[in-house]
Amino acid sequence: MRTVPIAEIDDKVAALLRTAGQRYSPVRRRLVKVLRAAGKPLTNNQIIASDKSLVQSSVYRNLNVLEEAGAVTRIATNDEFARFELAEHITEHHHHIICNSCGDIADFSLPANIEKSLDLSLRQAAKKTSFDIDNHRLDVLGTCTSCQ
Ligand SMILES: [Zn+2]
Ligand SMILES: [Zn+2]
Repeated sequence: MRTVPIAEIDDKVAALLRTAGQRYSPVRRRLVKVLRAAGKPLTNNQIIASDKSLVQSSVYRNLNVLEEAGAVTRIATNDEFARFELAEHITEHHHHIICNSCGDIADFSLPANIEKSLDLSLRQAAKKTSFDIDNHRLDVLGTCTSCQ
């Protein structure tokens, strides 16, 4: 999701890191920049391929720090590689379409009126449980262009 300006994202990430007692270091800034520019969740290798100044060990360590601070979300798919994206609360609500074959993920958004009725339907369905609904996740499965 590329629509939120980088300055706004930087402010939010800096605040989250500060709360976690962490610094918004140059490496962490680069990671956030790469994740925002991608517009889809990335694996460690895809992150490193996007910015040659990043080193494997430091990417791994700093992604963990960003994840623990709540700035980055880890997405598990059916392949062995976890993917990372900026947390929804600092970008915007969206959904994922996941390739059944290679595990690649694309972001997509639904029109606001569809989101609204989806949310309403899910809340009604959840009334049968004793849960309070905070938000929803909805993944679509398919085959990406390179696997077709
Ligand atoms: Zn694929
Ligand atoms: Zn939604």
